Amino acid sequence: MNYKYKRKKIIDNYIFISQVVFFLLLGILILRVYNFSYETFYTDSLQVFIFIILLSLIPFIKILNYNSKFKPIYIDTIVIFLYLIIVCYFITIEKESIFKIILLMPVVVISIKYGLRPSFLAAFVSSLALITISLVNSNISFDADIMLSGVLFLLAWLLGNMTETEAKIREELERLATHDGLTDLLNHRSFQSILDEKITEAKRKKSSLSLLLLDIDYFKVYNDSLGHQKGDIVLKTVADIMKNATEGKGYCARYGGEEFVIILPETSIHEARKLADTIREQIEKTEFIGMQVLPKGKVTVSIGIAQLPLMADTKEKLIQKADEALYKAKFVSKNKVEVYYSVFDELSLILKDEEQELLNSIRTLTTVINAKDRYTYGHSERTMELCRNYSRLLKFDDFLTKNLIYGSLLHDIGKIEISREVLNKPKKLNQSEWEMFKQHPQWGADIIRPIKTLQDSLEIILYHHENYDGTGYPKGLKGKDIPIGARILRIVDSYDAITTKRPYKEAMSKEQAVEELAKYSGTHYDPIILEQFCEMILKKDDV
Ligand code: GH3
Ligand code: MG
Ligand code: MG
Repeated sequence: MNYKYKRKKIIDNYIFISQVVFFLLLGILILRVYNFSYETFYTDSLQVFIFIILLSLIPFIKILNYNSKFKPIYIDTIVIFLYLIIVCYFITIEKESIFKIILLMPVVVISIKYGLRPSFLAAFVSSLALITISLVNSNISFDADIMLSGVLFLLAWLLGNMTETEAKIREELERLATHDGLTDLLNHRSFQSILDEKITEAKRKKSSLSLLLLDIDYFKVYNDSLGHQKGDIVLKTVADIMKNATEGKGYCARYGGEEFVIILPETSIHEARKLADTIREQIEKTEFIGMQVLPKGKVTVSIGIAQLPLMADTKEKLIQKADEALYKAKFVSKNKVEVYYSVFDELSLILKDEEQELLNSIRTLTTVINAKDRYTYGHSERTMELCRNYSRLLKFDDFLTKNLIYGSLLHDIGKIEISREVLNKPKKLNQSEWEMFKQHPQWGADIIRPIKTLQDSLEIILYHHENYDGTGYPKGLKGKDIPIGARILRIVDSYDAITTKRPYKEAMSKEQAVEELAKYSGTHYDPIILEQFCEMILKKDDV
């Protein structure tokens, strides 16, 4: 955008300079008509007056060029028409053929500004004026005027063609610079600058703006099995589906690799979600060559959505929130649309001022875990959400609810001490690694021990891997000896692990998960809590 504006300014400057030169030539012509002579120029007040009038026209020309509210083509037509009348009038009086050269002005200006056809029109009008003057002046220089007309047309053809060729090349280069070569969507750079522009606009108008981040699921598998060329066809088709679905509503761009973005100005979360679902469904229904190689037997996408100003107030935060939502969609099940949601945002609304600082510390600690343990991304937040729902259902008092919320958010905090390699190991852990892994409830409890406000959640963290039959760790507590919060968390923690994708296994549906948990009722899990929890899960639509 900036570049276009700069170019217009440069061209306007050229046109301004040529207009000034031609107006000054016209001045000399007019002075000549009024018997201009170099000797008497300063003493003849009429000559000086005419010259000053002409000079004062310069700022007027500038205003016409830059600040006009009217369409430039109308202004140019009127100015050139007046110019021609004045020129013709004075040339008819002066009769000196050399001044006819200032009839070049309309052709030069029009061809630089508007290209071939208008410049031919200007050449035609100027030539017509020239021949008419010649006829009025009784044909003294008719042959010279015909030649000059020829020159006008040649100039119109040359400059007009050059302007048009330059415009075509410029458009092509502009397209190359702003669009992605494979999908023909906007490229990353244009996406960033359009998003900047639209966010400023949304803030000014106090309207909302939604951002969709889309990623093709298992694309590496598709590429590896069918080759990059077939992969490119998928990218193009997905881009076309997005473009068609978004037509007139927003801007689609290729964010990078197999990730795309859609900017939807003045769009609510509800509308954005509807559009995202349409795109997801259309892609899911489209036939792609060899799509049977993919785990779900079809090409699918996951989409994350965030909205300004509801969830973020800057470009960076908006992209980050959409990205977090996309990750959530990926880790829960893929082929899914997810709107950004954070329990922390919600908690910070309901917590007292003195608890805000504590919440921020917990948030930082969970961010560390999320970054370290890629495969359990968002696990703490989801677990906390489920614990909170369960506690609401059973109408627990505030004390237990709060302890359960903090305990579930922080239950894996001890994993900070475990190496990234062990946490992300796709295979089974060996004996020493397993021994180390089993320490994380103890380490977690040690980490939060100095924080006074969290003391009552400490036991939940410490005992969240104890089994109901006493076979768990770290203490081997049994039955009701295990604090109730820890017994609840033991179940919720397992449920989330089963229903999210891990590197070595697919995510289970909630029905499958309930069946799986039931196998360990009374051994790993408290049977009563398990029954209530499973009942809640099966009733709820979105867990
Ligand atoms: P996930 O479901 O988690 O998104 O897994 P994924 O395999 O899609 O994700 P990952 O980011 O690991 O893979 C992205 C792949 O996209 C890797 C690369 O081969 C492919 N890719 C990136 N750019 C292009 C491209 O321009 N053309 C083709 N054919 N493939 C591309
Ligand atoms: Mg990706
Ligand atoms: Mg992908």
